[in-house]
Amino acid sequence: MDPKLEAVFQSVVARNPGEAEFHQAVREVFESLEPVIQRHPEYLESKMLERICEPERQIIFRVPWQDDRGDVQVNRGFRVEFNSALGPYKGGLRFHPSVYLGVIKFLGFEQIFKNSLTGLPIGGGKGGSDFDPRGKSESEVMRFCQSFMTELYRHLGEYTDVPAGDIGVGGREIGFMFGQYKRITNRYESGVLTGKGIAWGGSLVRTEATGYGTVVFANEMLKTRGETFDGKRVVVSGSGNVAIYAAEKVAQLGGTVVGFSDSGGFVVDEKGINLDLLKQIKEVERGRVSDYVERRPSAKLGNSGGSIWDVPVDVALPCATQNELNLGNAQTLIKNGVQVVAEGANMPTTPDAIHALRDAKVLFAPGKAANAGGVATSALEMQQNASRDSWDFEYTEERLTAIMENIHEVCYETAESYDAPGDYVVGANIAGFEKVAKAMQAFGLV
Ligand code: NDP
Repeated sequence: MDPKLEAVFQSVVARNPGEAEFHQAVREVFESLEPVIQRHPEYLESKMLERICEPERQIIFRVPWQDDRGDVQVNRGFRVEFNSALGPYKGGLRFHPSVYLGVIKFLGFEQIFKNSLTGLPIGGGKGGSDFDPRGKSESEVMRFCQSFMTELYRHLGEYTDVPAGDIGVGGREIGFMFGQYKRITNRYESGVLTGKGIAWGGSLVRTEATGYGTVVFANEMLKTRGETFDGKRVVVSGSGNVAIYAAEKVAQLGGTVVGFSDSGGFVVDEKGINLDLLKQIKEVERGRVSDYVERRPSAKLGNSGGSIWDVPVDVALPCATQNELNLGNAQTLIKNGVQVVAEGANMPTTPDAIHALRDAKVLFAPGKAANAGGVATSALEMQQNASRDSWDFEYTEERLTAIMENIHEVCYETAESYDAPGDYVVGANIAGFEKVAKAMQAFGLV
């Protein structure tokens, strides 16, 4: 990395000790920015990089709630309002025991550039809690969500900050939080949360959007080499919202998904996964991938000690969580002839794995570009809420597809213009950064 950028990076590390995921996300962006600061030395003079790495506001709060036994539980809530240069803070809420400030800041930082790439008027933010929804009853989840929103509501607003879901936060949790927001404020402000149910202000395609968008993006990558998903073997990791709908879109485009996972293991199904069964187990029963194997004769559980990335495929879609695809996994994928790796999750590929894939000329799409379809459709949900309208599935999906194709084009062309053809990391980081930096310059020192 350029010494001037390295110095700024070291100051970010010193100011934010112990936040490894945040440091990783910042380094990944900075590594692409050397040609930008050569063209625009004013960004260094105005301390643009230091400013962009410092959240505009960070909120940390107590979330007390009572479990079904009547015992008091205390969790910690977070909302990092990172950057509002392009619009109200926008980004999901994650409920997972691994959540701490460093995770929320990495996600919020990524979100700034992702939202910029969508071309829609949304700033970057992220939030969540170390609450673990797994094993909790419906009423425990409801009481937690109500307590969480009782503090968070005062920071939100259609023009201020608009959260959505993420790991551990789906339609059920958004419903509980929206209900509490409405009750406290006595206002039906649909535009204050996205990922809502269709009957109460949600958008069609939002559920499918991140997974569908990732596959549309990966298909555009394949097209640059004269190929498509038709006939391709694919694995997705995870079996949550992103993974399920990525798999659905792959099947629609003629590919075969032969593997998926959850935190308990991975499944190989050479016949191609049965999506109806997977949805039933994961979305309805909230079960495990092992339940799928019990009911599907063609499927088997992967070897313990093995990994989903050992399965030979043309396209790999990491859709579970951060740092789930490491150097060894990347080397196995390369050896087995993978052509495309597109991140449905946020930062699932470790930095050394990304370097290995790029060196081997595997087409690699970072999450901030490939998984932007979710937040883009959230912005479409906000548009529908603002106009008190709702669009049909076909029209909304058309908009999503056009947005993803446009993000691909912007990343591809930006990489070319910075002498890095086919490098989507460079393209996404530079295109995402430049728009935010220009807006911040225009606003002066605020
Ligand atoms: P979900 O909670 O719906 O699903 C997460 C899935 O990943 C679950 O199947 C979970 O398994 C699995 N998982 C978690 N940790 C591991 C692990 N260590 N190894 C294998 N599997 C694991 O979350 P989403 O699908 O919504 O989110 C997935 C990723 O996509 C996250 O990185 C999120 O930030 C990102 N993302 C999501 C968007 C959205 O619209 N939902 C938008 C953009 C990005 P288990 O059930 O066992 O925990």
